[in-house]
Amino acid sequence: MNLNYAKRMDGIKASEIRELLKLTQRPEIISFAGGLPAPELFPVEEVKEVMQEVIEEHGRNALQYSTTEGYTPLREKIAERMKIVGVDVTADNILITSGSQQGLDFTGKIFLDEGDVVLCESPSYLGAINAFKAYQPKFIEVPTDDYGMIPEELEKILKTTENVKVIYVIPDFQNPTGRTWSVERRKKLVELANKYDLPIVEDNPYGELRFEGEIPPSVKSFDTEGRVIYLGSFSKTFCPGFRIGWTCAAPEVLNKYILVKQGADLQASTVSQMTVNRFLEKYDLDEHIEKIKAVYRKRRDLMLKTMKEELPEGIKFTHPEGGLFTWVVLPEHINARELAEKAIEKKVAFVPGGSFFPNGGNENTLRLNYSNMDEERIVIGVKRLAETIKEML
Ligand code: PMP
Repeated sequence: MNLNYAKRMDGIKASEIRELLKLTQRPEIISFAGGLPAPELFPVEEVKEVMQEVIEEHGRNALQYSTTEGYTPLREKIAERMKIVGVDVTADNILITSGSQQGLDFTGKIFLDEGDVVLCESPSYLGAINAFKAYQPKFIEVPTDDYGMIPEELEKILKTTENVKVIYVIPDFQNPTGRTWSVERRKKLVELANKYDLPIVEDNPYGELRFEGEIPPSVKSFDTEGRVIYLGSFSKTFCPGFRIGWTCAAPEVLNKYILVKQGADLQASTVSQMTVNRFLEKYDLDEHIEKIKAVYRKRRDLMLKTMKEELPEGIKFTHPEGGLFTWVVLPEHINARELAEKAIEKKVAFVPGGSFFPNGGNENTLRLNYSNMDEERIVIGVKRLAETIKEML
């Protein structure tokens, strides 16, 4: 059989991470590899109750098709919650998507032709890189430090590169580094996008999981021209299983997203949307987020403390003020993929950082997740990791 697949499939390969994640499902493995929220924090009883109410009170509507834009009461509540990141919008600016991941795929579909250029942070979210890859762009990684993309470097690239179509950023507790952009850099990014007339896609699934300090204004909050497309999600603040995320944009831009949503799947699940909406009516999501933060904060503290005690000198790691990940930079000669293979033998897993650089390199880096393991396993896991690193030094 010779099935003639489309050319775009050439760039789409099973990631090693998927293979690695399969291994991590073995219960004896301590896994810092995934990006999963802690399931023990899902409000299962409350969800059971609101699902039942949705079916009892609105059963026929909940099981019916509904509009592409999404369930209006939910869109209204999301518009209201956008104030948390300094954005003043109405339901007309909100499209409900199947997770924010769908917003990433739509971004590729709407903006990218073959050979077009996506500017992203270096490193960036693997799921976005893979979603965009289906549209066959080139990636240019913008040099990034602890405060975000370096504006001078970004402008140098913008000045000298043709066909740049999208600037994609994760300014809050970035996946994979856990870093957060300074407010200055956010403003500067919007200024540059205005100057070069480009859209910015701001992906923010983690911003509300801030353990210390105030939530900074989003990039979108500095947008005066309607060029920032903001992707939000309930996956980390509530639960990912309903697959409810949103795209927030100026109506004329959002219209493009609505059009491709029709082609993709007509609409997000009606019953999922109504359930999330009912949960938001009946329970205080912010209170729930406080509970999540308290647990993750402890796990972060413990992971960082244990790393400080156990890792050999000269190994750097980030100190995220929220979110799910920390990022480790090893001495140049240590390859994190080899380290991952050795670490698996000691029953500890992580994601080698090289995968997060669309153009490769940086094989001496790794991403650690602290949200999904309990405290005891965090300590044991970091100790095992440190041992493995020492053996490779
Ligand atoms: N963006 C980033 C940066 C992510 O880390 C993730 C998931 N881990 C997503 C988007 C997609 O999340 P979801 O589709 O569940 O909203």
